Amino acid sequence: MAEERELEVSIDQDACTGDGLCVQYAPEVFEFDIDGLAYVKNLKGDLLTTEGSQTAVPERLRLDIVNAAHDCPGECIYVRDQADKTPVAGPGAETD
Ligand code: SF4
Repeated sequence: MAEERELEVSIDQDACTGDGLCVQYAPEVFEFDIDGLAYVKNLKGDLLTTEGSQTAVPERLRLDIVNAAHDCPGECIYVRDQADKTPVAGPGAETD
């Protein structure tokens, strides 16, 4: 089901523990800022340092992003359907 959707991802930095699991899963999308919290990067690789920024999930990284959302200790990675904003992984998703 999720494989056919265009997805987007964001992080709630207020709940991020800074453990870095997401950065290990998908360093092309997740990166630490100087505050020690994880943020998302856009498709050009720019770090989006506004809290709660969202970015498109590249097709080939979809599984890594979904796994990061499942395993995130802070439960603060939100993966949504880009079109209708339905939660796909992370808080609010049916599979969690
Ligand atoms: S896995 Fe979750 S809690 Fe850990 S650094 Fe990434 S966003 Fe923060």
